[in-house]
Amino acid sequence: MRKIIALTIDVEPDCPPYLHTYRGIEEGLPGLLSVLGKYDVEATLFVTGDVASRYPRQVEGMAQHYEIGCHGYSHARFDRMTSDEAVHEIEKSTEVLCRLAGRKIISFRAPNLIFPERFLKLLGDNGYLVDSSLAKYKLQHLYQIYAAGWDFNNRLLRVPVSATSSVLRLPLGNKIIAHLSSPVVLFFHPWEFVDMQSEPVRWDCRINTGSIALERLESVIKSFKASGYRFCTMADFLNL
Ligand SMILES: [Zn+2]
Repeated sequence: MRKIIALTIDVEPDCPPYLHTYRGIEEGLPGLLSVLGKYDVEATLFVTGDVASRYPRQVEGMAQHYEIGCHGYSHARFDRMTSDEAVHEIEKSTEVLCRLAGRKIISFRAPNLIFPERFLKLLGDNGYLVDSSLAKYKLQHLYQIYAAGWDFNNRLLRVPVSATSSVLRLPLGNKIIAHLSSPVVLFFHPWEFVDMQSEPVRWDCRINTGSIALERLESVIKSFKASGYRFCTMADFLNL
């Protein structure tokens, strides 16, 4: 496989379900977007419908330069929803995101990277072609391997993420990232680029947040560029 990396950002409230603030959108996102712009790299932003409704101008602006994907509406877990609730979440978020992006939204990622098989058909029904709700690092590793690739029944390409989002901020995280196999799919959150040290959240949500995380992201981009990796969006996977 060619050297491919996809940077993906789950644009959501701060550290759900612990906080209900939006410092990530207001304080973290501008710095993150400026680093992406500085290195002129492609990225996919999986935005919740709730964030899109609260920050429509930001989503319109991001859609000028990046792929916009869907991250549900309320960031509620799909495995705890009835079918009716899941339909509502997907239809409502798809509508607001398509309207603000001014085009079809074809990539999806479920909150907490948990999306029950029984709902996969809903993605195809709503125009999605790529699902990135799988994770290579999760304990149910066999299922994640089995489910990755083309799902012909639901006309979906399922692309797993390579590592947990906090890897960027953990000790030795840069070494772990450097050893991931292609295609590398990394994901982050805007709130990770805000100093969360004094917030009442888990230690792994606090450690090295803020400017340290931004410096590390910059060094990850530089090192993958130097190694000849091509940066792509999730939609690009359909043509690889
Ligand atoms: Zn999320």
